[in-house]
Amino acid sequence: MGIRVPDNIATLTPYPPGKPLEELEREYGIKNSIKLASNENPLGASPLALEAIRNHLKNLRRYPDGSGYYLRTRLSQRLEVEESSIVLGNGSNEIIDLLIRTFVQPGEDVLMSEPTFLVYRLMTQAVGGRPVQVVQKAFAHDLEAMAEAFTPKTRLVFLDNPNNPSGTVIGRKEFETFIDRVPDDVLIVLDEAYIEFANPEQTITGLEYLSGSPPVISLRTFSKAYGLAGLRVGYGVMPPEVADYVNRVRQPFNVNSLAQVAALAALDDEQFLQETQKVVREGLAFLYKELAAMQIRTLPTQTNFFLMEIGYDGRQVYEAMLRRGVIVRAMNAYGLDNYIRISVGRPEENRRFLTALEEVLGELKTDSEGR
Ligand SMILES: *Cc1c(COP(=O)(O)O)cnc(C)c1O
Repeated sequence: MGIRVPDNIATLTPYPPGKPLEELEREYGIKNSIKLASNENPLGASPLALEAIRNHLKNLRRYPDGSGYYLRTRLSQRLEVEESSIVLGNGSNEIIDLLIRTFVQPGEDVLMSEPTFLVYRLMTQAVGGRPVQVVQKAFAHDLEAMAEAFTPKTRLVFLDNPNNPSGTVIGRKEFETFIDRVPDDVLIVLDEAYIEFANPEQTITGLEYLSGSPPVISLRTFSKAYGLAGLRVGYGVMPPEVADYVNRVRQPFNVNSLAQVAALAALDDEQFLQETQKVVREGLAFLYKELAAMQIRTLPTQTNFFLMEIGYDGRQVYEAMLRRGVIVRAMNAYGLDNYIRISVGRPEENRRFLTALEEVLGELKTDSEGR
């Protein structure tokens, strides 16, 4: 082919999504498989959101409200910020992409930690920017080392709080020490995809620092605690001046109308949110207890997922679990070769995971002893 591809695109490796259930069942000819790989909501979606979708179906021939008026208004009341501070996205992933496309030119730097959500790095590379990654300390963002890593070319810093994949959070004191050291022309982005699962006494949210200097942007999503990952809706909260620039880059109808009405309804479904938090809390306690009994080291978490060290290559365990109809996440792409990450499921899914893991580890042990 004679086409020319820029180097930054030719060297990009796409984000590896968690394997879809349908694909697993097709490839392995199995049924009733379960997925604990993408930190999705164990309970499904809010019933109020589903009802809102059904009611809206008759309006599908219309373009969505490009300003997302009702959802932004409700969010602004809920979060006590100006409406003009809120930018809706096709998932919070789109806000990550928009921030990078709005503020980063080729050759400029975006600071992030390692390991962290892969999308920050991919989107940075896509615009010809330079991802600068600072290795974590004890499975948490090393904010001291990150403060040393700013260059005159740094435009953005991404911190997922809680962190994916470790589940750890940033404490108030360390965050405030960090902000004091961030240059004034850098935007700090806190990706709060799992904030609904975190203990507010142990961490901060960007909303508290929205109008500080430098300002802090919060990213939130309906994909996790609200169970609407398939609809793709999230948002960023940022100073209105920043939102104004982002809106120039944003496509006019980036959030579809079903996503808008469903998100609006889900926000008011306090009961669903509380049930989700309860199922996750109880599921975690159960899994931690059972895994401890199996001598498997687990990491504490402030999210609906956690890491465990399994003593074998994660990809091998992932494959063997697949054959038993259980999708987990290998962590090799994050540089954690002997770890897997799982999301908390419903009680029966958690038990199924444990049974499969026990079989798999037994099999791998026999294999390694037989050699
Ligand atoms: C799941 C996740 C998101 C959510 O992305 P959406 O596009 O809103 O579905 C964002 N950040 C992190 C760190 C995540 O794990």
